[in-house]
Amino acid sequence: MTHGALVLFSGGQDSTTCLAWALDRFETVETVGYDYGQRHIVELECRKTIRDRLAREFPQWAGRIGEDHTIRIDALKEISNTSLTQDVEIAMGNDGLPNTFVPGRNLIFLTFAAALAYRRGLKHIVGGMCETDFSGYPDCRDDTVKAMQLALNLGMDRRFVLHTPLMWINKAETWELAQELGGDALVEIVRTETHTCYRGDRGDLHDWGYGCGECPACELRAAGYEQWGVASVQEGVSQ
Ligand code: ZN
Repeated sequence: MTHGALVLFSGGQDSTTCLAWALDRFETVETVGYDYGQRHIVELECRKTIRDRLAREFPQWAGRIGEDHTIRIDALKEISNTSLTQDVEIAMGNDGLPNTFVPGRNLIFLTFAAALAYRRGLKHIVGGMCETDFSGYPDCRDDTVKAMQLALNLGMDRRFVLHTPLMWINKAETWELAQELGGDALVEIVRTETHTCYRGDRGDLHDWGYGCGECPACELRAAGYEQWGVASVQEGVSQ
């Protein structure tokens, strides 16, 4: 088993920042994306562009970017609410979770990632789970990920290490992390090439990137970008 890493890479802001984080640390970094018939298939299409730009614009990372894997998990679509009730509008439920939520989805993603990492001989698995801004997803919480690491290591008889660099930082700090890892060039890739919008809207480019600007994912991303901008200005003034 090498000290290479496998990054759960959807093409969104969080997983792109995680990919840069892994490229900064590990000598070989492979990526995996899941295709489960999500509406915003546009996110998966962003993946190749982002990988290509990272390789082209960051020579120190170019030799580290390894294979990309896409795994189809069609069964997830069959158990999501939008599929059970046909084509319903995306809405937030009383529990604070969008109705597209598939219970335990990240447990499934981590299990597939570990099975793939096992085959590829990769020790480190990196995911963008975070419980700071959006703790609504119980499968993104730190305890859940730690329990999964233990379960996967026991169940596969390996010593995987699950990394979640975004677990304790907010969206503003995620922008700051991108800045620290790759400067303005990386921030620009995150801003213009990554996709987070629940509705798959890629019509208008805002300061914070593409998206409808109204869904919970867009609101979170826009608020984080604004907060980061304010913090950067204050930082500049105090220096
Ligand atoms: Zn949106």
